[in-house]
Amino acid sequence: MVYRVTLIPGDGIGPEVAQATRTVLDATGIEFDWVVQDAGDVTIASQGTPLPDSVLDSIRETKLAIKGPITTPIGSGFRSVNVAIRKALDLYANLRPARTVPGVKSIFDNIDLVIVRENTEDLYAGIEFAADSVEAAQARDFLATLSGKTIRADSAIGVKPISDTCSRRIVKFAFEYARANGRRKVTAVHKANIMKFTDGLFLDVAREVAADYTDIEFEDRIVDNMCMQLMQKPELYDVLVMPNLYGDILSDLCAGMIGGLGVAPGANIGTDVAVFEAIHGSAPKYAGQDKVNPVALILSGVMLLRHIGEQDAAERVEKAVRHIIAAGKHVTYDLAKGDSVGTQAMAAAIAAAL
Ligand code: NAD
Repeated sequence: MVYRVTLIPGDGIGPEVAQATRTVLDATGIEFDWVVQDAGDVTIASQGTPLPDSVLDSIRETKLAIKGPITTPIGSGFRSVNVAIRKALDLYANLRPARTVPGVKSIFDNIDLVIVRENTEDLYAGIEFAADSVEAAQARDFLATLSGKTIRADSAIGVKPISDTCSRRIVKFAFEYARANGRRKVTAVHKANIMKFTDGLFLDVAREVAADYTDIEFEDRIVDNMCMQLMQKPELYDVLVMPNLYGDILSDLCAGMIGGLGVAPGANIGTDVAVFEAIHGSAPKYAGQDKVNPVALILSGVMLLRHIGEQDAAERVEKAVRHIIAAGKHVTYDLAKGDSVGTQAMAAAIAAAL
């Protein structure tokens, strides 16, 4: 079997970590047909857009992609390519596992958590009006009439849509993931005590969905309490499912608990398409130096292997990554206690340890 996978090198450090990931995945013996698609800085220069249609067409065709980070230019007309890809392909689930890698400096050990973040709605829906806009003035008036509450005249307005449809599919995703991966518990994270209708809906739906999965434990936590509990008793938690904003924040918190962005993988998953990418960005100051840690994208590649059912290869890559980091000899600057190696040399060492 040959797997056709769209490979988006991205920009900044993207091409380097993408090359490193390709080296390791090719070394598993599984056959990949890589469809390389440029996006980001490179295509702004050559095609006038950071996201050519051909990139989305390719992902729709292969249904699988590995993506390096892409810079979001500040103050230009271009919106985030990363958000655009998620929206265009309706990649509704953002999956971010956080598992301790021995040898990576962290104040926690034995962390094994999975964040399942709703990826399409909530305060990230992009419905926002500037304080001095006509739209905000109209929204303030309209909302004041509806609610009987006054809104300060200098307020910007943002909207938080939470739907039954999107809540149901993300909570189902979390339970299906838990079942397929032998996890014991799903915790729904929310602030339903304050946002009774939006987060309240999320929680109600989560409880309904949980009733269909009696083999997996279910509980809920208020998001502020969740943060404290994660700092004090992370071992009590397993799979955490939540709306977009809390998921964005808590997944970075959990990445910090395993030692940072260099080792934190991720995936954006839709109904029949999945895009695998590290949590970190394009770190432009390190671009072209063969310096940064490739592990986050390599572990995103492990998630891809599991997604396509290649469990044995996934285990082998994960074991090799752990072995190389624990040995500490062929690791990048951020993991090294003494001498370090470059991005490609670390990837070659992981490939050789498979
Ligand atoms: P960043 O993750 O690129 O870098 C922050 C710092 O983290 C770096 O300076 C570096 O010290 C460290 N770091 C990141 N990745 C590392 C790695 N693999 N190995 C070692 N150290 C690493 O975050 P930023 O500086 O906020 O963002 C830079 C650009 O990336 C922005 O344009 C942002 O919009 C974009 N971004 C893209 C994505 C994506 O493509 N999914 C995600 C986040 C940010």
